[in-house]
Amino acid sequence: MTARAITTSGLTRRFGDLVAVDDVSLEIPRGGVIGLVGPNGSGKSTTIRILLGLIRPSAGTAEVLGRPIADPSRYADRVGALIESPAFIPTLSARRNLASLALLRGLPDTRVDEVLHIVDLRDRADDDVRTYSHGMKQRLGIAMALLPDPDLLILDEPTNGLDPAGIVEIRSLLKRLAADGRTVIVSSHLLSELEAAADYVVVIRFGALLFAGPLAELMRQARTGVEVEPEHPADAARLAKLFAAQGWASEMTGDTLRVQVDPERAAELNRAAQGASIVLRRLAPRTQSLEDVFLQMTTVAATTDTTVRKAA
Ligand code: ADP
Ligand code: MG
Repeated sequence: MTARAITTSGLTRRFGDLVAVDDVSLEIPRGGVIGLVGPNGSGKSTTIRILLGLIRPSAGTAEVLGRPIADPSRYADRVGALIESPAFIPTLSARRNLASLALLRGLPDTRVDEVLHIVDLRDRADDDVRTYSHGMKQRLGIAMALLPDPDLLILDEPTNGLDPAGIVEIRSLLKRLAADGRTVIVSSHLLSELEAAADYVVVIRFGALLFAGPLAELMRQARTGVEVEPEHPADAARLAKLFAAQGWASEMTGDTLRVQVDPERAAELNRAAQGASIVLRRLAPRTQSLEDVFLQMTTVAATTDTTVRKAA
């Protein structure tokens, strides 16, 4: 048994000139909730389809639960997936939808109640699916993916289009599923939707891997600093020079000077300003949110090298 849920090496998928997945090499550990995040069009769905054996890569290799993707039948029974909207019969109840799927797959009928319980749909299990909310339909889709009791669950944007309450429900479901020992890979174009649930994140943009690691490590990349406002805006330029002389870079936004320095050293900034007889009316630590880090990674960089998405 391998310790990795997924490994990829030089994984690439082209659609004509477009490189949808661009030379991605990564290792995703077993267990926990793994967020696959990137703006729309980043190649999340394409990556998932390759891993599920639905499409072939143009180059590179990958393994799912230690088995090569060249032969998906060797891992298909251990992987559950929800990609795009779940396919069910709207005029049947959740229970009957699940029961017919179980029959089709040769799975025991007892599993139906188990998965209904896991996704918290037992109360409405006998109502027609067409009466369900979007969130309930997504949970039914996850229940379908859970039927074979898979070790690995892959969900492509399960929170897309859900209201905040629906997102919270899915998020807690993801955590419960992972707590049972499964690996849950879940994609989203919004890191904020996964922030509270993901243990590990993979960030991609234009098909290229930007980051793969524990969420806490991504958080450490958050750029912190100190915001400083002199009492007289006219002093801002002098203040910036003063700070630069100490080795602290800064940038002006309106009347605020953003200084790239550890907030722990705020007193030193204050002292330097005082030494030059500049009174500060504001001195505040600035920490980036995880979403800021994500946006910076996926948008700022995107404007500077848009060429990466075209095939050489
Ligand atoms: P995401 O899921 O991150 O939004 P996708 O994997 O769906 O991104 O798409 C990545 C890129 O590949 C997009 O530019 C998309 O238009 C393109 N793409 C995806 N599937 C196809 C296809 N079957 N034919 C042509 N282009 C495709
Ligand atoms: Mg997608």
